[in-house]
Amino acid sequence: MNALSPDTKKKYDLNFARWVYENVDGGDRLSMCMQCGVCSGSCPIGDQMDYGPRKLFMMVRAGMKEAVLKANTMFNCVSCYNCVVRCPRSVPVKYILHGLGRLALQEGYAKPKEVDNSRFADAFWWSVSKYGKTDERLVTAKYYFSAGLSEGIKRGMGNMKIAMGMIKTKRMHLGMPHKTKKQGELKAILAKAVEIQNRNHGEG
Ligand code: SF4
Ligand code: SF4
Repeated sequence: MNALSPDTKKKYDLNFARWVYENVDGGDRLSMCMQCGVCSGSCPIGDQMDYGPRKLFMMVRAGMKEAVLKANTMFNCVSCYNCVVRCPRSVPVKYILHGLGRLALQEGYAKPKEVDNSRFADAFWWSVSKYGKTDERLVTAKYYFSAGLSEGIKRGMGNMKIAMGMIKTKRMHLGMPHKTKKQGELKAILAKAVEIQNRNHGEG
């Protein structure tokens, strides 16, 4: 991404679309969007987004920079790639969302710790690095309570029925967390993953 980001002080910036075309991965395809809505209609998480991808792209073109960068759309995307494989104009929707999300973080419109997906990713990483696998109970609890005590209790109570169903059908166990064997090898793999990530982000 080019270091020269658009002027985020302004609510509207008619150069925003051009900046996205030129600086966001896959952004050059955004001009091909014909607003058909297949991406939004295919998105399994669309009802959890401030705006679906179709509308967000329309807003980019309209120069609604601030509203775009404040949206949760980019951070709620679960990278299922439905939109990418179904777009009739081969717009790499998910990649463009990713680029917009990075811009929102760089410009301070979103904070990693407040982004739901980031907190879930932290809980997931914690479980995998500690046990070598995802323990549904611990990941869920860690994720829920990362939003604060009252929010954790509220979310936990709200999903109690699902949890009880999972226990009943043996989809979730109540004993000690299971650990994978060969923890040393796992830690070496994860350390390598961190090294690659840091290198890709210019921190290594
Ligand atoms: S599916 Fe493709 S062409 Fe249709 S609205 Fe989404 S990005 Fe645009
Ligand atoms: S990749 Fe993201 S935006 Fe695209 S359909 Fe999946 S969740 Fe929705």
